[in-house]
Amino acid sequence: MIGVIVMKAPLFDAIPGVAAVFVGRSREPRPDPASLAGALGLPAFAVRCVVTAAQIHSDRVLLADESANGGPLGEGDAIVTLAPGVVLGIGTADCLPIVACDPAAQVLGVAHAGWRGTVSGVLEKTLASMSAHGARMERTRIAIGPSARVCCYEVGSEVIDAFFRLRPAVAPAVLKKEAGRTRLDLVGANRLQAMAAGVRSEAIEAIDVCSICRADLCHSYRREGPGAGRMWLLAALTPLPVSRSTGATSP
Ligand SMILES: [Zn+2]
Repeated sequence: MIGVIVMKAPLFDAIPGVAAVFVGRSREPRPDPASLAGALGLPAFAVRCVVTAAQIHSDRVLLADESANGGPLGEGDAIVTLAPGVVLGIGTADCLPIVACDPAAQVLGVAHAGWRGTVSGVLEKTLASMSAHGARMERTRIAIGPSARVCCYEVGSEVIDAFFRLRPAVAPAVLKKEAGRTRLDLVGANRLQAMAAGVRSEAIEAIDVCSICRADLCHSYRREGPGAGRMWLLAALTPLPVSRSTGATSP
């Protein structure tokens, strides 16, 4: 697509039956996610609609079923679907966009995880919802898009206190203290959350792009302030190729 930066996670991108892209900077700083669906590279018939969430930094998981017809589903920060062609969209500007899929069960989930969503467990709740819909964590693959990384993501006492209070087991590992400053490894925190849910370490992939220091690729709330542009994770289940074993020809 012209005028937008599109990033893909190579291992996740190779999974049959699912498509996912991370749209970074675009010429239009606040694009309508429905206008970006072409970045998935799917044939038009394979895209039914683009659904989003009215994101509130919560742990609420929404379900997009066959009746979804586009636009916001309601307030929440994660969406799960079993419906091919329903594109799930998550908007970010430093927070983690996360996509998870069990390709064998054809269950797809996306989540928006900033520090608030991470301490409240938005990813573990997304994975629990996927499990309830038939996904198995030992088969589930995860990709994490561009976001504020530990190189730049300095946090203050509110964030530090929240991690030690609500995530005491992981807080020392994900809060990096150096010269009186603390930086948060949000990818690490969510990686640990996924592994605790049963996802294999090698099935978790993070695009190596920091939204704060890569102004050429990313919008960033830290860098641009309240008027920051938005990046979009878009993901969809796609129709699987039909296997023909009889040698019959299609009309
Ligand atoms: Zn950085």
